[in-house]
Amino acid sequence: MTDVFLKPRKEQSLERRHPWVFSGAIKKIDGQVQNGDLVNVRANKGRFLAKGVYSEGSIAIRILSFEEEPIDEDFIFDQLKKAWEKRSALGLVENQTTNIFRWVHAEGDHLPGLIIDVYGDTAVIQAHSIGMHRLVLPVAERFMEISHGTIKNVFDKSGTTLKKQGIEIDNSYLLGEKSTSKLIENSVYFKIDWENGQKTGFFIDQRFNRNLLKRYSNEKIVLNTFCYTGGFSLYALQGGASKVISLDSSQSALELVEENIEWNHFQSKKHETVKADAVEYLKQLPEDIDIIVLDPPAFAKHMSARHQAIQGYKRINSHAIRQIKSGGIIFTFSCSQVIDKKLFRDTVLAAAINANRKVRILHQLHQPADHPINIYHPEGEYLKGLVLEVE
Ligand code: SAH
Repeated sequence: MTDVFLKPRKEQSLERRHPWVFSGAIKKIDGQVQNGDLVNVRANKGRFLAKGVYSEGSIAIRILSFEEEPIDEDFIFDQLKKAWEKRSALGLVENQTTNIFRWVHAEGDHLPGLIIDVYGDTAVIQAHSIGMHRLVLPVAERFMEISHGTIKNVFDKSGTTLKKQGIEIDNSYLLGEKSTSKLIENSVYFKIDWENGQKTGFFIDQRFNRNLLKRYSNEKIVLNTFCYTGGFSLYALQGGASKVISLDSSQSALELVEENIEWNHFQSKKHETVKADAVEYLKQLPEDIDIIVLDPPAFAKHMSARHQAIQGYKRINSHAIRQIKSGGIIFTFSCSQVIDKKLFRDTVLAAAINANRKVRILHQLHQPADHPINIYHPEGEYLKGLVLEVE
């Protein structure tokens, strides 16, 4: 295995168990290394630090182990098994009311660059590096064994993520086939298209936050902006909302929402879809709204886009705060990794000042335990939300 030597003092972040090595920290590479190869990371004078996967790019190595142990099929098998058992301990396996959850959350499960989501009897893999893809592939046919029979189909959707890195592989079933099993989250049914949908098909990370919206929704008019498959909309209807408006700029997303409304036998007369730009729509709401949900896509995927993203969050929040009726509630989120909890709250504060209304924070929201955060990798804390009350 190739040895990668770090510049003096660049070992410190690894000694604090941070799982990334940036390309600027590397002093020399002993021999040839290619995208996806496993490497040993050594301090300047040769002391072993960790083992990881090499990639071309600014994050050059993602660490898999801080021990001198083989990184092979058995290693990955054991990590996946541990992650499965943790989900089982959380009550997510063989659960009658929820069969959608995240099995592997990358660094949060010590498997950097690997996401595996479970939809009933199907696991959807999304590897974000070719090295991780190579490691997980041989284990895919053992998913049934790891999951004690729960997983019968495995869809590999890494083609979509790796294409951005110039790697051409097809998205395909590694095991089984397209399943027709019923998907359910907190007793709400969902039709999920993991083959063509965004990410692995669904935003699993909002499970608890959607449930909280349900508790606020009885007899309320709810506007769900950036609705995608309509997760928040369905919970609001289940919670007794008198009317729900689902807004997205994508027609195919709105069609999915309508299918999901039908699938749950909710009264379609209580629901309306609007194809529009959320920012424009929020500037002038056509009616009094009791609850607004703002769950946009990540406005900043990189540090370079951070400033612009802050302006984006400020804009939508200040429109919503200005427009909502007195006593209204706003569920506002950011899933941008580069915007931390404090910065998000400060941005919402700036929006409140801008709108010049009395605003209180009722809840501070978060990602659920099947999206764990490795404490040494604070970047993993990506989802944050606030529930605001506007007087
Ligand atoms: N809230 C969703 C996830 C949001 S994903 C859930 O709970 O599942 C982001 C969605 O925002 C996508 O469906 C995308 O089509 C939509 N979107 C992106 N930009 C938009 C804009 N300017 N106006 C309205 N919708 C937008």
